[in-house]
Amino acid sequence: MATRRVVAPREPGGSAGRSAPDGITVGVLALQGDVREHLAILGTLGVAARPVRTAAELAGCAALVLPGGESSTVARLIAAFELEAPLRAAIRAGVSCLATCAGTILLARTIQDGLPGQLALGVLDIAVRRNAYGRQRDSFEADLALPAVGPDPVPVVFIRAPTIETVGPDVEVLARHDGRPVAVRQGRHLALTFHPEITGDPRLHALFLAGLALPPGPGT
Ligand code: GLN
Repeated sequence: MATRRVVAPREPGGSAGRSAPDGITVGVLALQGDVREHLAILGTLGVAARPVRTAAELAGCAALVLPGGESSTVARLIAAFELEAPLRAAIRAGVSCLATCAGTILLARTIQDGLPGQLALGVLDIAVRRNAYGRQRDSFEADLALPAVGPDPVPVVFIRAPTIETVGPDVEVLARHDGRPVAVRQGRHLALTFHPEITGDPRLHALFLAGLALPPGPGT
């Protein structure tokens, strides 16, 4: 397990510094994972954000962060909290998602090495393989080149991360690590196999929020 350092969110820089549409609320799915850290980063970016555990809390959110965790556990909690249908409906109705790690697994079309029947919402045209980095690299830190957020590399942490094995034609690869996609965008959805919230760099959240102001693209 890599050192989990939490640092104060920094000011966003580069092109990702554009802001979200006024008056929106961003939900953070609060079943497992770094809910507090995501809320803190969204707060520093000046957007209203709230934890979401119920359909009532999801209602009214224009966007949703799906934190990491253990995707099979999150899937079980989604069932227990009766959130699958509300999530599907919200996303169909235009709620955009920022997914990290297990969240990305949840949004994938296909999960390799998942539990039998593990929930895959099929929002993103990607196939992911769970826990694909192998034991010796279960968790590691990296400085990622991510031109979409600016010239400086983004410090991130991979924790028992999945790999993105295939991407469909509407999926744009924003960053790679060891040649494999680790940050992808489909329409206004942004999906990462790593955790940007642990290092507190706000640029990916800012990129996501900036995207909410754009007209829907292909695959949204
Ligand atoms: N290994 C986890 C899973 O398969 C994902 C890890 C994470 O979200 N950091 O669900």
